[in-house]
Amino acid sequence: MSDRVPMNGEMCVKCGICEAVCPSRLSSLRSLDLDRSGALPEEIVNCTTCNRCVASCPRSVPITKAIERMRQSMTTQGYAETLANLSAYGTSIVPTSPCNVDVKSCKVAYFAGCLTNHRMGGIAASVEYTLDYLGIEFTRIPEVCCGSPLNRIGRFDLARKMLEKNLGMLRSLGVETVITSCPGCTSTLMEYQDEFEVLHYLDLYDRHRLYTDVDKSDRVATMQFPCHLYRNVSPYTMIIAEQILSAMYDYRRMPEADRCCGAGGGVRRNDLALSRQLKARKVDDIRAMAPDIVITACPQCKVHLSEDVPGIEDLSVVLARALGFSQHEF
Ligand code: SF4
Ligand code: SF4
Repeated sequence: MSDRVPMNGEMCVKCGICEAVCPSRLSSLRSLDLDRSGALPEEIVNCTTCNRCVASCPRSVPITKAIERMRQSMTTQGYAETLANLSAYGTSIVPTSPCNVDVKSCKVAYFAGCLTNHRMGGIAASVEYTLDYLGIEFTRIPEVCCGSPLNRIGRFDLARKMLEKNLGMLRSLGVETVITSCPGCTSTLMEYQDEFEVLHYLDLYDRHRLYTDVDKSDRVATMQFPCHLYRNVSPYTMIIAEQILSAMYDYRRMPEADRCCGAGGGVRRNDLALSRQLKARKVDDIRAMAPDIVITACPQCKVHLSEDVPGIEDLSVVLARALGFSQHEF
């Protein structure tokens, strides 16, 4: 098989912007389009798939997709762990308990994702509470992984098989709209937008103007913009998030709020030290804001940042509390 990755490489003008914005400081980026076989393996696995390079590239070179494709034939300890979990449990992480959900025929489904289902039940409980608050009838499904972690390591065929299992369940229940809370699940399910309306909870809350239902406090809040929500789903999600937070708090945007925290693309699982190194600048930026509360809208960002920013919350949780949800500890 050729090493060449179809990525419109001829379009690259070698401006170096991708290298300049890359949080992992990958020095091989400018050469990727011409000689991908020469890219260092460690540079390929160190990409967090944050998509900042692609968003900044004046020629729209699909750098991240090329890196994922180069990972196709690589096996590292972290990749092996992901593949083993998927094979053994159908989830990207080892489940701590069975995920018991109510399944019924319904036009709306809530798809929570592996990390939320098995480590962060508070996010799922908060989204479910808010759906009830809005009077939206919904079903859950016994989810398997959406396939996003497999796409990030180039296992596109396996990812599609996982996603198809979920889609089959959604189709059998007559679901037309899928509500999500995980950025990776959202962008993966959005590949099927022709068949399902896929709405991240922020889009839904915006549609129902939930920021008009909350009271404002003088607590200072800031927010980490999740890469996969801001760049892979839509920058508009962060406009909604900031509108909600401004209605609830003295909201202040941190510098480079969209810079990756270092958790994504399998980097945290593959090289914890590197992912923590990437996080250090983000933590400094957060602390410089002296916030009373730090928000994100991604379970993976929350896991990673909570090591240094205890009390960091998902936006779904603080909003549900402001709407009357009384469950404080998850
Ligand atoms: S930003 Fe785009 S055009 Fe510039 S060097 Fe990178 S890939 Fe090439
Ligand atoms: S996706 Fe992010 S980490 Fe990967 S090469 Fe692009 S900017 Fe760097």
